[in-house]
Amino acid sequence: MSSPAIYYFDNNATTRVAPEVVEAMLPFLRENWGNPSSTYLFGRQVGEHLDQARTRVAALINAEPREIVFTSCGTESNNSAIHSALVTQPEKRHVLTTAVEHSANMKFCELLERRGYAITHLPVASDGALDLPLLEQSIRPDTAIVSVMWANNETGVLFPVREIAAICRRKGVLFLTDAVQTPGKLKIDVRKLDADFLSLSAHKLHAPKGIGLLYVRRRVKYQPYIVGGGQERGRRGGTENVANIVAFGRAAELAMANLEDENTRVRALRDKLEEGILGGIPGTARNGAKEPRLSNTSNIAFDGVEAEGILMLLDQAGICASSGSACTTGSLDPSHVLTAMGCSAARARSSIRFSLGIYNTEAEVDYVLQQLPGIIAKLRASAPVG
Ligand code: PLP
Repeated sequence: MSSPAIYYFDNNATTRVAPEVVEAMLPFLRENWGNPSSTYLFGRQVGEHLDQARTRVAALINAEPREIVFTSCGTESNNSAIHSALVTQPEKRHVLTTAVEHSANMKFCELLERRGYAITHLPVASDGALDLPLLEQSIRPDTAIVSVMWANNETGVLFPVREIAAICRRKGVLFLTDAVQTPGKLKIDVRKLDADFLSLSAHKLHAPKGIGLLYVRRRVKYQPYIVGGGQERGRRGGTENVANIVAFGRAAELAMANLEDENTRVRALRDKLEEGILGGIPGTARNGAKEPRLSNTSNIAFDGVEAEGILMLLDQAGICASSGSACTTGSLDPSHVLTAMGCSAARARSSIRFSLGIYNTEAEVDYVLQQLPGIIAKLRASAPVG
């Protein structure tokens, strides 16, 4: 019996591992399973592949290989950068961030607050935009780090990270950008960007879960968050996850090759889906600015229906989408991102994120556009809200 068809529109939650990536990593699970730190040939050979993968992910962001620290995920990368900024500058006890960051950043800042650090969450406008003069004014003499994501995972809204990096450089403050949602969609050039830290997570670019990286700009002081063996030149303890690192390297090459497709074909599919919903279903509105925005993301509010119900009926039709970030789905709290943008709790609770990727086809978009009007009409008829 074949499994039912899946229409996957949740690429900001995670992505399918590319077949080329699976091929690249398998030898490191089957034959080449040595420890890259071992001194004998069987280990050293594995170490060479680790170096090659490091060079490949560095090329994705135009960094030097020695500026890459492999971590277990995007969450660890964000936590590690903020931790390092605070411990290398113990006299500075303030973190400046935004109200719409991923929980990988928000929850760490909440923890810091409980430990006596001062955290400022910058507000955003109704279209999700940041007020840069306010950001600049909010940098204090005791600000250790400014942490602003590049692309919002829920709305796709982009922040002007180059300008923010320039402000931080002028003010002499470290700058971290969580770029987890950007590879393959935006060209990342850390030399032009001029951030001190940048986080990535491999499972957002068609590699497995459980591997991420932190870019640490040359000459920026760094203190590890995970301490143990001297792996990663003493910057992250723990035997390297070789197969996943190799996978990340291959996925980085594919992400560069897919930039064009993501920004033309995938963007056109996203626009077709969004325009089809906004034009075809009454009482719908986009959350967040139309531009600048990731080419794959569309977040839409459906008046008078709960996202939970929509997701359930979409699921029955084989369609995967989400409300808010995957990590907060399941909780009844309205999205903190949409709330920060001034959406009412009702609107935030009636919003769905569709996030496309390179494996989506026009036929899949047509299928969603065919299913969705009936789902919304059914829910509006059966359970009108407020
Ligand atoms: N930052 C952003 C913007 C994300 O979207 C995510 C994952 O959804 C993360 C960080 C966390 O990445 P990971 O799942 O690798 O910890």
